[in-house]
Amino acid sequence: MKLIVQKYGGTSVKDTERIKAVAERVVSCAAKGNNVIVVVSAMAGETDKFVKFAGEITDNPNEREMDLLLSSGERVTSALMTMAIQELGYESMSFTGRQVGIITDSSHTKAMIDRIEADRIKAAIKENKIPVVAGFQGINELSDVTTLGRGGSDTTAVAIAAALKADLCEIYTDVDGVYTTDPRVVPEARKMDKISYDEMLEMASLGAKVLHGRSVEFAKKFNVPMVVRSSYNDSPGTLVTKEDGDMENIVVTGVAQDKNQARITIMRVPDRPGIAATLFESIAEANVNVDMIVQNISSDDKATDISFTVSTAEGPKALEVAQKVSDKLGAQGVNMNPEVAKVSIVGVGMQSHFGVAATMFETLSKAGVNIMMISTSEIKISCVVDMNQSELAVKELHKVFDLAKQ
Ligand code: ASP
Ligand code: MG
Repeated sequence: MKLIVQKYGGTSVKDTERIKAVAERVVSCAAKGNNVIVVVSAMAGETDKFVKFAGEITDNPNEREMDLLLSSGERVTSALMTMAIQELGYESMSFTGRQVGIITDSSHTKAMIDRIEADRIKAAIKENKIPVVAGFQGINELSDVTTLGRGGSDTTAVAIAAALKADLCEIYTDVDGVYTTDPRVVPEARKMDKISYDEMLEMASLGAKVLHGRSVEFAKKFNVPMVVRSSYNDSPGTLVTKEDGDMENIVVTGVAQDKNQARITIMRVPDRPGIAATLFESIAEANVNVDMIVQNISSDDKATDISFTVSTAEGPKALEVAQKVSDKLGAQGVNMNPEVAKVSIVGVGMQSHFGVAATMFETLSKAGVNIMMISTSEIKISCVVDMNQSELAVKELHKVFDLAKQ
């Protein structure tokens, strides 16, 4: 008998018809002799609707109240899903994050899970009831409701799978799995049969929205096999798992783009020790996440340009901080370009193959795409390019690394 956690995303449970269809899927898995734990998201659009409501009342919603508000969508789905499963003649019981004992820290709207008690889920399974857990939420030590960040139900599912040592965590969505790149940009994009945790982590942080990044970190840490698949058909999906020999033979696994980027440059900063520290400490104090950083070597040893990227949303805040630092240091000034995108290639095989970066740069240059910034890790190369050229870049890279072919 296997223990399987099945998580259904917002589009999979977008209305009561879909909830009934998912309930069928759940019971058919149980009927095969598996123990199933269901984790649900809010019905598609619900969480956004709550965010909008809050915005109609205040520009600066209190985060504790925001969490109570946001967590309610998942509670609705869990109750309805439980009823739908019961209608099919199976015993089932819904649980909120609190009832499951998902204990998080207190960083409201982006809480991290500290531990999961899970006693009630275990008891329900013993009694042959299918537990249906409201995703995306927990409670802090004060018993206040917290949420795990947008898209966080994936993380609930994997965390429960890890806590209960489940055999598999299935993430059901409206696409067939993880693609080599966004099929809306490149129609030839291919669904992958499997991908390593590290590659998936990179793809998720690079803007591939199929999985919540933290869920992959959890899965990797506790070695939970994860499958991303569609709740609309029986296609087997993509397995996210430990790296194996086959994966190393493939040089590039996927191409990702993130248009949600802004580049900020501080011009002619005096070239002396401690400048970068001053700048990035101030930015960190403003709670802005910096992604790439490039510092040029000065031509005259006196001053240098420093550029960095942040998310578009954080651009104005970062620009403000950079302006202050620039004034303080006597730099020439600052500017922001919000029209940039980050295009990246990912693959564990890069570690053992030569010339991958050269192929990427040459391909972009032949396509007339100017590279503004470059950053690399062992399994990723990212280039910042003009936003208007980013889709072209993705298409050309997908072609040159032959990703449409298995
Ligand atoms: N309902 C939440 C959101 O829309 C969490 C989730 O769906 O995973 O972000
Ligand atoms: Mg999601």
